[in-house]
Amino acid sequence: MKNIYKLFQVLGPWKWHYLFAGILLIVSMLVAMLVPKILQITIDGVVLFALNGEATTTTPDRVVSFFYQLIPKITPDNLLTSLAWIGALYVVIAALRSSTQFLSGVITANSTEKAVKRLRDTLFSHIQAMPATYFGKMPSGDLIQRCTGDIDTIKGFIGVQVVSVIRFSAFFAGAFAMMYIVHPTAAFIAVSVVPIIVITSLIFFMKERKMWVEHEAEQDKLTAIIQENLSGIRVVKAFANEDFEINKFKDQNEVKLKIGVRQVDLHTFFWPLSDMLVHIQIVLGIIGSAYFTLNGQLSVGEFSAFFAYSIMVAWPMRELAKVMSQMGMASVAMGRISEILDAQEEDYSGKINDEKQRINGHIEFRNVSFKYNKEADTYDLRNVSFSIEAGEKIAFMGATGAGKSTVIALLARFYEPDEGEILLDHQPLHFYDKKYLRSRLGIVHQKPFLFSTTVRENIAYTHPQAQEGIVLDAAKAADVETFIHKMTKGYDTLVGEKGVTLSGGQKQRVALARTLMSEPDILILDDATSAVDTETEYDIQQALKEKMAGKTSIIIAHRLTAVQQADSIIVFDAGSIAQMGTHEELLMQKGFYKKIYDIQVAVEDEIRDSWM
Ligand code: ADP
Repeated sequence: MKNIYKLFQVLGPWKWHYLFAGILLIVSMLVAMLVPKILQITIDGVVLFALNGEATTTTPDRVVSFFYQLIPKITPDNLLTSLAWIGALYVVIAALRSSTQFLSGVITANSTEKAVKRLRDTLFSHIQAMPATYFGKMPSGDLIQRCTGDIDTIKGFIGVQVVSVIRFSAFFAGAFAMMYIVHPTAAFIAVSVVPIIVITSLIFFMKERKMWVEHEAEQDKLTAIIQENLSGIRVVKAFANEDFEINKFKDQNEVKLKIGVRQVDLHTFFWPLSDMLVHIQIVLGIIGSAYFTLNGQLSVGEFSAFFAYSIMVAWPMRELAKVMSQMGMASVAMGRISEILDAQEEDYSGKINDEKQRINGHIEFRNVSFKYNKEADTYDLRNVSFSIEAGEKIAFMGATGAGKSTVIALLARFYEPDEGEILLDHQPLHFYDKKYLRSRLGIVHQKPFLFSTTVRENIAYTHPQAQEGIVLDAAKAADVETFIHKMTKGYDTLVGEKGVTLSGGQKQRVALARTLMSEPDILILDDATSAVDTETEYDIQQALKEKMAGKTSIIIAHRLTAVQQADSIIVFDAGSIAQMGTHEELLMQKGFYKKIYDIQVAVEDEIRDSWM
């Protein structure tokens, strides 16, 4: 029920338009109730005159009396003219019905489209505002399914099902009222099966809803498999593991099929049952009104009108279950969307937020401990303390999993430390507004993501309007120039899904250029040149020296050539700092650094010897 309420909230500012459209629809449906009365007048007032020489003697109800007042008095001499008048009355009713229905349809469609667009926008913005941890828990296939399939289900609810409910309710109430004012007993007989139809529809609704929840969960898994497979198709191909992937997909598809079959079984059982109940109701309505006609309590014309009303009252019942089952799906979809919308957005706020203010780049970690899994016994970072002066070039080294990237993640406030304190320019890091802080940090990852657009647009991602010279400047510093000229379209080369796939090293260089474009106050290269050759890495470092002069930079790297120039090198081991000092100082100590140095020197010597 909560979800149904939320579904209506989606309408937002368009709810009044929608309400007006609903009223118009009700008017249109009530006008439709007048059509059987035209039939009744034609039979009682005209046809019976023609057959028997006198009209029916039954007292007309208020609606019929009103119609008789609108047309000239019917006499044996003016039967054809009277028919023409009745025809004109019918045209007026039809025109009124069509125009209100048309207007209602236009307003509903308009409000629905706008409301759904707003929901889509809200959902996407909300997803953007979620913390990094959220995306670890929520598979992207699941999110995609909710942003597309579920939104469409909601659109169907607002644009079609609610309209149907209004139409059916008005139809049902109108037809029942029209019968009731003529003959209450006959009217009740005509709706006597309604409670049974409603109860069976409710049971169907609940079963359908339960199955739909399962269906959507399995659909999410299927979407996630497709999405993951397409993202990692190169790995699949490289391992020639297509059959494994196909089987994985088939298994999941099989699970979905089973739910689909159960749904079809439910439908094939329910629809004939509901059809039968509806037909029983129609027949009861006809027999009841026929009985009262034979008794003389209803005229022949009234019987014809009752016949029409019996069908009108039964028809919405036939659709009730369908609408209910679709509402069941919509309420599930709304629940799934609310799950996202109710999730806490990342709190970006912080008092240091002056966009014009630059960060000097003094960084201090004081006894910082942190663990990703709060239930785990061990920490991923343990008692980490170090200090970086503004403008210093610092290198992080250590085995994979040692905690280097975690330090960076904490510095960017993707996570908060469990213990200890981080200071930036001598201010606690949590004083910094996250958006401001991240805009001042330039982080380049080892496996950067490039958007499927041109190289130029990728580089100018943070400054789309930037002048060509600035883009080229960043590209030059990141050594993009050397490979881009070999491509026929140069900077207009499309990358990613729409175009060429760049090599790992080329991607890293474009990503570095993109970061340099944002003119960061602190540059962080998280193994960001691991895929370029040593010579290119050296060239990039020389260019960066100039570009980042006076600014703090942190380089995470495995090659000694990349780190030995640093003002200080921090070696991490299993979440703690194992060594700290300059290249020369660390070489004097026995430890990880010296070991790596010896290995790399030995490898270089071996390579040199093999060339001689
Ligand atoms: P490094 O950058 O030195 O390779 P990381 O900082 O990435 O190491 O990882 C440190 C530890 O934290 C590792 O044990 C790793 O498994 C764990 N870790 C890293 N990222 C996450 C994450 N998002 N969720 C849970 N554990 C993580």
